[in-house]
Amino acid sequence: MSPNGQPLYEGKAKILYPGPEDGTLIQYFKDDATAFNAQKKDSIIGKGVLNNYISAHLLPAVGEIGIPHHLLGRMSHREQLIKQVEIIPIEVIVRNVAAGSICKRLGLEEGEKLDETLVEFCLKDDSLGDPVIAAEHIFALNKATPDELSQIVDMTLRINDFMQGLFFGIGVRLIDFKLEFGRLETEEDIEIILADEISPDNCRLWDVSTNEKMDKDRFRRDLGGLIEAYSEIARRLGVNVPANALEA
Ligand code: UDP
Repeated sequence: MSPNGQPLYEGKAKILYPGPEDGTLIQYFKDDATAFNAQKKDSIIGKGVLNNYISAHLLPAVGEIGIPHHLLGRMSHREQLIKQVEIIPIEVIVRNVAAGSICKRLGLEEGEKLDETLVEFCLKDDSLGDPVIAAEHIFALNKATPDELSQIVDMTLRINDFMQGLFFGIGVRLIDFKLEFGRLETEEDIEIILADEISPDNCRLWDVSTNEKMDKDRFRRDLGGLIEAYSEIARRLGVNVPANALEA
């Protein structure tokens, strides 16, 4: 069931509804799965619930290391209460190991460890296929200021260090992931905070001992077993998702 009220925004995997108070929104997780700029589409029952529970566990965890984020709390199987922010239209991609689009783009072998953690930026624009852009493009197009981007990169690298350790502790390699940030207006100034979600939909997660993919590549590459893989990530993280919650 989705919340009452007209959606403010509907994306590929989530819907935003007005929240109960000014400055809040309800983020609703759908089961829709898309890949390759939405050329591949399906609905996988239970995916939204698992992403909701996993993200509602990981955002407070990064909050504990001092990263400000938009999550106020999980409300139901598919809903979160979040702070309303102005989303900065940049996808921040962090790569520890080569996989996915960078392999095609730069001729790398999947699974190749990168000598240094790589932070890439993509312009969030589906009609252009989210192109990779440089920091200079971000400034020239006035998408974020140098100070904002430096805060974003700083937070992103701290999140990566923390999450690599967290996942390694549960037998999972954090290959790469995507983050989004937003501007939160406070009484004094504008703060940059982490927004969106952190879930197997936007991370690549490989089992340490078998290299089995436990993320959205199961859908992208028609491997099957997506719900089982996401459920296993939740289980290893100690996130309890009630079995009946995974129904449509
Ligand atoms: N990613 C994402 N949303 C996007 C693009 C990428 O969440 O629109 C995540 C993706 O799940 C992976 C990482 O960012 O964990 C790097 O993705 P890549 O650039 O390899 O893209 P893809 O393989 O999806 O084309």
